[in-house]
Amino acid sequence: MPGHDDIPFVFAGAGLDRLAPRRDDPDWLRETLAAARTRFVPVLGEENTIVAGSDAPAPLLLDCAAARVLLTQAHCMVLLGSYAGETCFALGLPPDASLPAGKIALTNLRPQLAVLESGVLALLGYARAMVHWHRHNRFCGKCGAPTRSHRAGHELRCTRAECGNVIYPCVNPAIIVLVTHGGHCLLGRQSGWLERRYSTIAGFVEPGEDPEASVRREVREETNIRVTSMQYDASQPWPYPASLMLGFRATADNTDIHCNDGELADARWFSREDIVRGIRDGGLVLPTYRSISYRLVQTWFEESGKYSLDHYPQTEAFSDR
Ligand SMILES: [Zn+2]
Repeated sequence: MPGHDDIPFVFAGAGLDRLAPRRDDPDWLRETLAAARTRFVPVLGEENTIVAGSDAPAPLLLDCAAARVLLTQAHCMVLLGSYAGETCFALGLPPDASLPAGKIALTNLRPQLAVLESGVLALLGYARAMVHWHRHNRFCGKCGAPTRSHRAGHELRCTRAECGNVIYPCVNPAIIVLVTHGGHCLLGRQSGWLERRYSTIAGFVEPGEDPEASVRREVREETNIRVTSMQYDASQPWPYPASLMLGFRATADNTDIHCNDGELADARWFSREDIVRGIRDGGLVLPTYRSISYRLVQTWFEESGKYSLDHYPQTEAFSDR
């Protein structure tokens, strides 16, 4: 079960049936695209769309009639699956596409992480990731000819028959790790973040590298800390643009921090008391509470048998990551 107890992680796909067998069912696709209940999730450029202006923002979901008007502007359409009883497609549109009138806002979803429920975030993040993939693969990487969408948007094939290149959506694995030493944990701040924002150490897995080696390398490169033991905890998708974060807990061998590779502006050891104090006085902001990063910190808190983060709900989400 992804997430902490009954709280699913953001973007984790709760409640979405991807209907993968239907991708190869042209009759079903034709009927569904014309059905009154079908919904379309517009993505303008790289941005999702929400209906703003009310207390509770909601995703903009278009019906067939509204989507048909936009079809001439669309560069891709992708079957996402069934969510809340409705079959949903992503609709990739140019950044300046004209949407139906109303209070509609474009968003990169980061400011919505603490506001939208996990299933909605999963649907929107999935739509955004697939549209991003289509936008960046309009031409064959092998021969340069245009590509064409197949299998309800889940496969791109080179249009030059002699080439035969087929492109599939790819996911980039990344590690995210809470390193501890005694009663302290290691948190870092990237240079682009506000000064009070700290999170667990993270980085991309490189080709030919297993996730455990990636944990050792990233922690060492970014902070000079050597990891002695580690354990996998959980995973969380992160659709910016197509990451899958593999969460670990690890133990440190040394404590002398140096931010070696310039990726982090700062890294520090925090005790549980430091974190509680920081949250209380506003000097520290952790990632949104439905993220894997927060869960790693929260689990470490609960192991103490003395502290819990539950008393300090995080309402402020990372908006700059
Ligand atoms: Zn080609």
